Amino acid sequence: MSNLVQEKWDEILDFAKQEYNISNVSFNTWIKDLYVKKVEDNIVYITSDNNNITSNFNHISAKYGFLLKTAIQEMTECAYDIKFESETDSVSTVKASSDPSKVIHNQGLPLNPDYTFDNFVVSKNNQLAHATALKAAESPGDIYNPLYIYGDSGLGKTHLMQSIGHFILENDPDKKVMFVTSDTFTNELIDSIRKGDASPAAFREKYRNIDVLLIDDIQFIIGKDRTQEEFFYTFNALYEAKKQIVITSDKPPKDFTTLDERWRSRFGWGIIVDLTPPDYETKVAILQKKLDLKQSEGSNIAIENDVIPYMAENINSNIRTLEGALTKVIALAKIQKTPATKELAEYALRDLIIPTHKKVITPEFIISVVAEHYHMSPSDILSSKRDKAIAVPRQIAMYLCSEYTDNTISKIGEIFGRDHATVIHNVKKIKTDRSKDFSLEETIKVLTNKINPDIK
Ligand code: ADP
Ligand code: MG
Repeated sequence: MSNLVQEKWDEILDFAKQEYNISNVSFNTWIKDLYVKKVEDNIVYITSDNNNITSNFNHISAKYGFLLKTAIQEMTECAYDIKFESETDSVSTVKASSDPSKVIHNQGLPLNPDYTFDNFVVSKNNQLAHATALKAAESPGDIYNPLYIYGDSGLGKTHLMQSIGHFILENDPDKKVMFVTSDTFTNELIDSIRKGDASPAAFREKYRNIDVLLIDDIQFIIGKDRTQEEFFYTFNALYEAKKQIVITSDKPPKDFTTLDERWRSRFGWGIIVDLTPPDYETKVAILQKKLDLKQSEGSNIAIENDVIPYMAENINSNIRTLEGALTKVIALAKIQKTPATKELAEYALRDLIIPTHKKVITPEFIISVVAEHYHMSPSDILSSKRDKAIAVPRQIAMYLCSEYTDNTISKIGEIFGRDHATVIHNVKKIKTDRSKDFSLEETIKVLTNKINPDIK
């Protein structure tokens, strides 16, 4: 079965090239002919048939390893170590976010070493789900069985589910914890049937001879009749044997309307919990946690104080996107060999965060815009000259100041060197005149637009 990294390899390379501006020559010389030999225990083994490349693996790893690792993470949403390896030797490794020796050899797919309870930030958005998951991990197969966790993509379902796996294995390394995605489950069943195993005995044996089943994204099984049926056989067998079952999904069981009620109700036999989007404080805490994690692994990252608040404030989609954004900012800072500043973050995240251009409109700015429009200087506007050519622009400027700044009438008067009553009179005059005078109305629209195109 090919791995997502292998499937997406060409896209990963293209992405790395575009995103990190790798020059054509470097790309064609070092990177184009790399391919994935295998993916095992969260390590992507990269090799090439070209001698010029394999003999330069040290260089390629040092120069492009981090970028490739980041690109793999971006494209697969999964953190891997990468290892450059020719047929004969094995050289440089670029570490993923954790020590590969920590990879736990559970059954099924490898658990991500970072997806632990310790690394899970608890807030009111996930408090119940977290507490329930921890309790299920402490007494597997007991009260919370099955544990059903649902929520939108990128909110931490897989992380929480794998935390349970880690926790159980840490307490008892002999426990057979099986983590699978619905896709793996489906593919293994199909493989087993294809091999002529009509009642897939080996498949059943494998799935029933475990202590904990963590099955991720169950929504992809529901509706696939044969797989669904097989899943419920497994479910029943494990449930009766008091083995812990943890299920994640993008929706609550009641939303699986095509699923027969007798199956659907089984999902609710234990407990159903959900994850909701994080608030600002949670986002800051998660970003800080991810940063600490990277730093504890030896990454030397200088990130300025306003970067994390900027990201937390502006990224509203989900935690995966938030984390991807942090990776992007750090990658760019590394390439440019500068600290991660807010400006750099704005640039790195320009596709993700629409710049708000929230410029503060000040009276000075309005005066300069009006003066320029009428081909005069700001000091003309502020002068005591009374001729109409200057008096009208001055009135308009006062009016715009009262409309688009927070200054009081008295403050505006002070700025223009006029008394309170004059300002009120002028503002009122323009307000009435603009509704009667078409050309004045047009002028004000143009000026408003010049002051800030977002004001409508
Ligand atoms: P889902 O499975 O719901 O789509 P994941 O579990 O893959 O989401 O989470 C996406 C990313 O967000 C992961 O890298 C995960 O570590 C991170 N994440 C989600 N929730 C939290 C949290 N509460 N604390 C720390 N990291 C989190
Ligand atoms: Mg997931």
